Amino acid sequence: MGRELSVVGGGVIGLACALAATDAGWTTTVYDVGPSARAAHVAGGMLGCLGEGHPGEGRLLDVSSQSAALWPDFLSRLGDPAVHTATDSILLAASSTDFAYLDDQVAFVRDRLPAASLTRSTGSELRRTEPSLGRGLAGGYLAEGEGAVDNRLLIDALAAALRTNGGHIVDAVVDDPTELPGDRVLIAAGLGSAALARVAGAGIPVHGEKGEILRLRRTRWSVPPPTHVIRGRRHGRSVYLVPRADGVVVGATQYEAQGPDDREPQAVGVADLLADAIAVMPGLSSYELAEAAAGIRPSSADGLPVVQRIDDRLLVATGHGRNGIALAPWTASRVIELLA
Ligand SMILES: Cc1cc2nc3c(=O)[nH]c(=O)nc-3n(C[C@H](O)[C@H](O)[C@H](O)COP(=O)(O)OP(=O)(O)OC[C@H]3O[C@@H](n4cnc5c(N)ncnc54)[C@H](O)[C@@H]3O)c2cc1C
Repeated sequence: MGRELSVVGGGVIGLACALAATDAGWTTTVYDVGPSARAAHVAGGMLGCLGEGHPGEGRLLDVSSQSAALWPDFLSRLGDPAVHTATDSILLAASSTDFAYLDDQVAFVRDRLPAASLTRSTGSELRRTEPSLGRGLAGGYLAEGEGAVDNRLLIDALAAALRTNGGHIVDAVVDDPTELPGDRVLIAAGLGSAALARVAGAGIPVHGEKGEILRLRRTRWSVPPPTHVIRGRRHGRSVYLVPRADGVVVGATQYEAQGPDDREPQAVGVADLLADAIAVMPGLSSYELAEAAAGIRPSSADGLPVVQRIDDRLLVATGHGRNGIALAPWTASRVIELLA
């Protein structure tokens, strides 16, 4: 007998879970209101694990490394090589103080993941690996196997694979998930998940962490984009450059959102990102500023994704914070376990 699944939310989590469900034999329909409030639309697309390993977040590092191991199969399942835009990262420190911070971070990661491929290098050694880096940077680590995807191509590829598998995507706002058809209903609506779970009588706390992010486009006169993801630390602030076919994504600030509509970038966030990005890669100064945007990360209280049953029929997958793209394959496999 066929089993039917309704999914609320067509972001990276909803689509990844829906695709895995169709692969597992479920007839699946995704209900989604579109990209304007979708964190996965603005995201950088880093598949962060080693570079996201911060002391005190050991469990998140474990989950991230499990998800990192699933990414090669996840990418081959999608079959579009353009989705994958980088295979390695450079963790970069601008000053000796930034380098000391990075050393502590890497010590924590190595303690938890002894096999992690992290090679300590001086600034000039890193410039030989990635010639676009600025001079005078203190140094950092080469993190092999930690790459990035083009998040917008990823969403398109997930949607295309889902439709090819017979799944449906319906353009609709869902107010009450209990009224949707199907044997099971998955709430995967990012920041909207808490309100939907509340309608179903469940308390799933999700708060919004805002982030500004820029898209810079290469011109005929500019140097090529970097080939690595560059995760920089400068004056104690984080900045990352994520390669794209036509430029780089520069991200991202992080602070508590004022509310679900607080989605416009602030001047100060844009100014800091541009200053730090150009210090890390001076050639970016001649790139075009193609887009300045802000999104809201759906974050849980303890920083871990919330993937669980609400009752016999309802499930929820949300709270992925700053790592929802990276954690998509892990979340999909966990949801399939819960559906089984
Ligand atoms: C600036 C920024 C940079 C980031 N960079 C990275 C990164 O480099 N790597 C990484 O791994 N993660 C990154 N993230 C985090 C990542 O984007 C999120 O964790 C991830 O998108 C969460 O996925 P989601 O599917 O749960 O939510 P979303 O991507 O927000 O998708 C939720 C979907 O549900 C729909 N929806 C909501 N309510 C309803 C409703 N009632 N009815 C119907 N549809 C509804 C929305 O329209 C949306 O399409 C970044 C986030 C931001 C803001």
